[in-house]
Formats: sequence, C-alpha cells, structure tokens
Amino acid sequence: MKLMITGGAGFIGGAVVRTLINETDHQVVNVDKLTYAGNLESLAEVSASDRYHFVQADIADAEAMAHILAQHQPDKIMHLAAESHVDRSIDGPADFIQTNIVGTYTLLEAARHYWQSLNQSASPEALQKAQQFRFHHVSTDEVYGDLAHTDDLFTESTPYAPSSPYSASKASSDHLVRAWYRTFGLPVVLTNCSNNYGPYHFPEKLIPLMILNALSGKPLPVYGDGQQIRDWLYVEDHARALIKVSLDGHTGDTYNIGGHNEKTNLDVVYTLCDLLQARVPPASGHYRDLITFVPDRPGHDLRYAIDARKIQRELGWTPSETFETGMAKTVDWFLTHTQWCQNVLDGSYRGERLGLQGLH
Ligand code: NAD
Repeated sequence: MKLMITGGAGFIGGAVVRTLINETDHQVVNVDKLTYAGNLESLAEVSASDRYHFVQADIADAEAMAHILAQHQPDKIMHLAAESHVDRSIDGPADFIQTNIVGTYTLLEAARHYWQSLNQSASPEALQKAQQFRFHHVSTDEVYGDLAHTDDLFTESTPYAPSSPYSASKASSDHLVRAWYRTFGLPVVLTNCSNNYGPYHFPEKLIPLMILNALSGKPLPVYGDGQQIRDWLYVEDHARALIKVSLDGHTGDTYNIGGHNEKTNLDVVYTLCDLLQARVPPASGHYRDLITFVPDRPGHDLRYAIDARKIQRELGWTPSETFETGMAKTVDWFLTHTQWCQNVLDGSYRGERLGLQGLH
C-alpha cells in the first residue's frame, strides 16, 4: 500500500514516516513545505529507503497537490501538515488560516477529484484503489476548548469550543473534512489527540524547551501558576494509533487518542528537572531552582483530558509507554542527540538562525 503523508518532516509526521518505513512494508510519499518546523534531519534513518519518497510542496498549492496525487496514486492520505504552535498563532494568525483552513480545503478538493477519477476509471486496479482510499485528518483535542477540574473527559461527541487561533483553525479544518464526507462522499476518518512529546520535538514546545534550557542553565519559563492540566502521549504511541486508524478505522468516524496521563505543566517541569538531576546533575543546586513563572498566555485553557476508550475498544490500540517511561526515554534521547538539537538551535538545519526565545 502507498500512503501519502503531509507534514512528514514535522514532529508527529516524522514519527509516522519512521514507523511506516521501519515497521511495515508500505510505501511513503512525504509531502512537506519545509516551514521552520520541517526538518529532514529527523528522517535521516529512513531517507535512503526505496519505499520512501519526499516532495517539497505547499498543501495550499492546488496544482501541485493534483500533480502529486496523479503521479503517486496513493491508497491513503494522512494529513498532518499544519501550523501547530499556539503562541505563534497568537502573534500571527494569518499562516494558521492559510495552511490549516485554506490548505486543508485545497487538499480536500485535490483528493476528491483524484478519488472521483479512480471511481470513474475502467481499470479494476483503480476501482480497487478507490474502494480502499481514505483521507485521514489528524487533529487536536484543543478543538473541544477546556474543561473544569470536575468535568467529564472529552469524547468524540463533545461540542467544539476552540479558544486560540490555532485550535479555531483546526476546528475549521475538522468541519471541512466532515462536510466533504457528508456532501461529496469522500471517504474520511478523523483523529483528535492530546499533547505529544518524545524524540525530535521542536524546542519551542514545553518539554524540549525545558530540557535544553535546563542543560544550558537558562531559566525554565512556566506560564501563570503552572496549574494548567494537559494529557500527555508519547509520540511513537500516537504514530501507531494513526497508522491503525488510517488502515482500519471506520469511514466517517472520529477517534480520540490520548494517554490517560493528566499532569499539570508544573508537574511536567518538576519531572524533567528530577530526571535530569539524576543523570547530569549541575555543579551546584537543583534544576528546579531555574523555574521562573511568567505572565500567563491569553485565553490559556485550564484543562484538556481525553477519553480514548473508543480507539481502544474498536481498534485495539493502547499506548505502550506510561508517562514515567516515556519521559525518561525522551530525556535520554535529548541527552544523546546533541547534534540534532544543536542544528535546530543554531538554525543550521535550514541554513539560518532561529533565535528561539522562551516560547512554549
Ligand atoms: P509540526 O509543526 O512539528 O509539523 C508540521 C509540519 O507541517 C512541518 O514539517 C511543516 O513543514 C509542515 N507544513 C506546514 N505548513 C505546510 C504547508 N502549507 N504545506 C505543506 N507542509 C506544511 O506539527 P506536529 O506537532 O507534528 O503536528 C502534526 C499534526 O498533528 C498537526 O496537524 C497538529 O495540529 C496535530 N496535533 C499535534 C499535537 C502535538 O502535541 N504536537 C497533538 C495533537 C494533534
């Protein structure tokens, strides 16, 4: 089978591509624009495979999408390409509207025409491809808004109430994907997942930022009082869940994916500090001493928590890592992949300096 992955040079897309090449026989076409978040160095271990093909393209470029689909004839599309960083969506929402909404619309239209042309073909292979074709939209639990401490977990039928430009743009794209299913019959499936962490995570996000700041003795900026709660999932567990949904999910359905690991941001930072303290203690003091509380993010959601029982019940997926094992693996990965980190921090992975600040 051939899977087209959009955003395969990003954090989660990269984990999907590596898992598909390392653990299956499927072919992969990775379509990525290579924004600041796209890093081909994260795919070094699979890029020589004859089952892997990379195309640099923007999902909002209708001509390019039509051409790639006609040329590569994928059996499935896994759509991960997006602008994904909440703080950036507050500083500059335009790219989020363009990629997450206009880009998803453009890709849906290209997929619809491709799928319709397969359906109209006289060739049995094309008709078989049309039957197994699926457009999988990868989304976030942030579309559901936030929860009070006493509220029930997000389920697949929780009403949408996004808070940030990022989550509003992802909610819009989810609605577009469902509309293309209802109106045009395009076979789609959707997933909404909680916060991911793990290897190759871009260091503007909470966990890698804290690890790398701590190792260089810089402050560890925590928003507000650090009591916001997130559910955390190890990225390779998410990648396996996504592959299962793309291959076996029920057409038209949504699956929530989560780790059942609700933690406050402050607890996450404490855990990281303690793991680092045990491995590479500083000359004096404790990494926890570097924690600095900074003014809260506008519209910051209090709590996200996912009910992932449907994917467990229907597709037999459960995460392999606990929060403790996943965090330990992540810290060890960052301690042993210093060149990857250095190339991101000094911008040499894309030939420029990023000047990363204390964002997460
Ligand atoms: P990321 O920012 O690490 O990667 C995004 C990738 O998309 C990059 O490689 C980038 O170059 C590419 N891209 C951006 N704009 C593009 C465009 N116009 N055309 C083609 N490629 C483009 O993101 P991520 O964290 O890997 O997230 C992947 C998907 O999963 C996103 O849709 C995100 O909303 C969703 N998601 C993320 C999380 C999380 O915790 N990171 C959780 C749930 C869902």
